[in-house]
Amino acid sequence: MRFYLATSFIFPRSLRLRLFALCFVATHLPLIAYIGWGFASGRIALAECVALTLATVVGTGIALFGIGALLTPIHALAQTLNSEEKEAAPLPEVGDVIQALYAGVHRAASATRSRIDDLDVAAHEDPLTGIANRRGFMSRVDMLPEAQRSGCIALLDIDFFKQVNDHLGHDEGDRVLAAFADRLSRQTRRVDLVARWGGEEFILFFDGATEDEACWALARIADQMRSDPVGRVNDRVISFSAGVSRWHRDNIDEAITAADAALYEAKAAGRDRICRAARLLATTRP
Ligand code: GH3
Ligand code: MG
Ligand code: MG
Repeated sequence: MRFYLATSFIFPRSLRLRLFALCFVATHLPLIAYIGWGFASGRIALAECVALTLATVVGTGIALFGIGALLTPIHALAQTLNSEEKEAAPLPEVGDVIQALYAGVHRAASATRSRIDDLDVAAHEDPLTGIANRRGFMSRVDMLPEAQRSGCIALLDIDFFKQVNDHLGHDEGDRVLAAFADRLSRQTRRVDLVARWGGEEFILFFDGATEDEACWALARIADQMRSDPVGRVNDRVISFSAGVSRWHRDNIDEAITAADAALYEAKAAGRDRICRAARLLATTRP
């Protein structure tokens, strides 16, 4: 590329003419040397000179034709790449085939990178609620720095959600899910993680929080669900049950399992309540 750029002052808008100029000079060097030597020594043979000059011109022409033929598929590729990506990021018209090819490959690479980014976002985001999905949650947890791998995990499940679908329709069910996700995102701190765990279940990570602090935060959200409901069904405001467990640097799956057991307990105890895994452990230990 350095030689390409260094020689770009010779016919800057045409690679073919630049190649021709280089070929011409290179192939005629022996001839020029021969003529120079002939004149210097006084032993110049005119007929040989003319024949040699004609031969090198023909040779250069054949070389130029060959180079042109070799460049044709590259040209076609450059044009394809450019026309494919022109709508996404139009570039000024390029003068020669290498620039066109370079610009086309650059644009194709950028477009591919942006498509990969889009796919990555789609794989980690729940399309209905716009928050992270299960995979997104786990990858964010994996990315947490060591000092931040401590806090509380809460699993939340909307109570009697099936009734919302059955009585108000699936669209209203979807709206409630999105409104609940929005409520959770707004009522937690930026450092906390909020994700849809699946169906009408959500998971929260309260960064650095104790079980008490996580329960207070959830109780505040539960209060708001009563004072400013995200929806009603069967003359009842929509509520949630939650299970909370502590997580401290060890395997997060264990903390999630403990939170799930506490959630099960909250459901069994009548719903619309928050249960702690620590209390559960204390009561089930022999
Ligand atoms: P519980 O209080 O025991 O949690 O009862 P529930 O009715 O909330 O739980 P159940 O597991 O019986 O029903 C969950 C329902 O959530 C069933 C399923 O159709 C619905 N659901 C899951 N994902 C979606 C979704 O994306 N949109 C809608 N509208 N409904 C969904
Ligand atoms: Mg459920
Ligand atoms: Mg439910």
